[in-house]
Amino acid sequence: MAPTPEYDLSIDLAEPAAQDTLTQHARSLMAEARIVMVDDEPIMTEVVQTFLEDVGCQNFLGINDSRLALREILAYEPDALLLDLMMPHVSGFDLLQAVRSTPALQFLPVIVMTAASDSNTKLQALELGATDFLQKPVDASELHLRLRNTLAYKQFQDRQANLDPLTGLPNRKKFMADLAAMCQSCENRSSGAVLLHIDLDRFGRVNDSLGMGGGDQLLKEFARRLEVKITELMVQEELPGRDSMLSARLTADEFAVMIPFVTKAKQAEYLARKILGFCEKPFRIDDAEVFVSTSIGIALAPGDGDSCVTLLHNAVSATKVAKQRGRNSCAFFSPDINQRSVERLSLETALRRAIERNEMQMYYQPKVSLRTGAIIGAEALIRWLHPVRGLVTPAEFIPLAEESGLIKTIGNWVLNTACAQQATLARAGYRNLEIAINLSPIQLMAADMIEQLRGALAATGAAPSRIILEITESVLLEQTRQSAMLMNAMHDEGVRISLDDFGTGYSSLSYLKQYPIDELKIDRSFVSTVIEDKDNGAIVNAVVALAHCLGLTVTAEGVENEAQRDFLAAGGCDSYQGFLVARPLPHADFMALLNTYSGSAGSVSRQAGFPRTDSGAAASQF
Ligand code: C2E
Ligand code: MG
Ligand code: MG
Repeated sequence: MAPTPEYDLSIDLAEPAAQDTLTQHARSLMAEARIVMVDDEPIMTEVVQTFLEDVGCQNFLGINDSRLALREILAYEPDALLLDLMMPHVSGFDLLQAVRSTPALQFLPVIVMTAASDSNTKLQALELGATDFLQKPVDASELHLRLRNTLAYKQFQDRQANLDPLTGLPNRKKFMADLAAMCQSCENRSSGAVLLHIDLDRFGRVNDSLGMGGGDQLLKEFARRLEVKITELMVQEELPGRDSMLSARLTADEFAVMIPFVTKAKQAEYLARKILGFCEKPFRIDDAEVFVSTSIGIALAPGDGDSCVTLLHNAVSATKVAKQRGRNSCAFFSPDINQRSVERLSLETALRRAIERNEMQMYYQPKVSLRTGAIIGAEALIRWLHPVRGLVTPAEFIPLAEESGLIKTIGNWVLNTACAQQATLARAGYRNLEIAINLSPIQLMAADMIEQLRGALAATGAAPSRIILEITESVLLEQTRQSAMLMNAMHDEGVRISLDDFGTGYSSLSYLKQYPIDELKIDRSFVSTVIEDKDNGAIVNAVVALAHCLGLTVTAEGVENEAQRDFLAAGGCDSYQGFLVARPLPHADFMALLNTYSGSAGSVSRQAGFPRTDSGAAASQF
């Protein structure tokens, strides 16, 4: 098989398109370059500046006092120096000598400019290290062309020094320089970034089986996939800093990616896992399909290292941890984050199986009327009985379920189980008891939400008018039109809608008019201090009054003592939940409570008087 040519040599320079490409390249070279000119005559620096600006130059520094030149050149870091030879104080020859003996300027291209036409002057300048020569008075076109060639050569040299020839990615030296600059700016702007150190697993084996050529091809393919996919990922995730993202090949099978503005461990882990996924599909090397995996070490800047060297070092140590975990995985440098990430992962794996293994249970917390003291319903609250950890609270696993997408399955299970509970209660004679069901914003925004609701109502025979769906304010904030449509559709099914944790979000009272909301649940944080904190007391009373004006009912959450309950009753609040009546209870205990509470089935919702304070809490460990 003929080798694939590295460069396409078939460009026809007479073609207008090819000409365009060359002109564009020259312009961009000129636009990006930093040019310094040292000449004692200000008129000369001005004229040359005008010439160069006409051909796209944007960074030009003219120096007329040669005594100050060396310092200013060093500070400006130019790509090329235009140098007059005949100057008072420090001549161009002296300056050239000084430039060449300054390590940072040793390889700086220098074009000397002089009116002298004798060959001695030219030879002397070339001997001292000038790269090119220009005759004064300067011809604009010649200046442009010589400068362009000089810059093109410098660019080529820079590339040779900064790029890995096999993959075309920046090499370790370039990466470290850019990372150092990033660490610096991170310090200044406290913006942060994530550094991912990516190591191909068992690359030696690929080399052994496919030979060095095959190994090289794999590295090239991997680098290409990495570049393309990372860019796609950044677009998809709408990550800022796409322009300042860095990627590099550090050594044979080690790569690195630095993504700015990613400072949260969760987001970093998400990205690392996506990168692990880049290798799910095999690589085609000649006629073979080759599967490889990677191990990724994650270091977060500036927390995991304030210098680029420490940061990379720490990311590399994290990669070792990932390798020890059996490869094809990622690990954080920070032991704390690692621990949490391992726990999250094992919890997520367990969560995936929890429903099919019947580990989920629905608990019910009674809701009591403040006017009559009767139990008028219950809120369904999920519990996970983990085989090893015991009971896991929803605060621990609901966010995880939301991130992993498992919330849809869990949410539908909750919907069906709680609707079935309503039907069971109705069959037991408690027809008026309402069951409140919490909906996660993610579950709510799922395309099939309404179908799921209809399905649950139909399958269980629950009475829609006895079902309340609890949503949080975040849903109303996010997608106004979509959420309004959704809520109207839910309302049309006959269920009621309650706004949970009211007062904790970015409450805008205008929501209460815009959406078909039937009930407000005042958050526990207000209720718990309603007695001690006069302001909170006033807020609670105002919310109750406002809700009533808008035709909504109000339930207070987290009532733990009689003083709180009495305050709420005096303010006209309709109902409450809380440990004062009962903690969330398993189905059987809830049924038992209904019976003891009312004395006879069916009369619970009509019962008058306040419950005994010791009635519920003892029945459950919650
Ligand atoms: P939430 O909907 O605001 O539920 C009320 C929480 O307050 C429950 O916590 C309940 O046990 C607790 N609570 C009730 N009375 C008192 C009291 O007097 N004092 C104190 N300190 N706490 C009280 P839980 O069950 O741990 O649930 C926490 C949150 O998890 C819920 O807040 C809800 O947002 C979410 N959640 C629970 N079950 C589900 C579910 O099935 N689906 C979804 N999407 N979210 C759920
Ligand atoms: Mg709730
Ligand atoms: Mg709540």
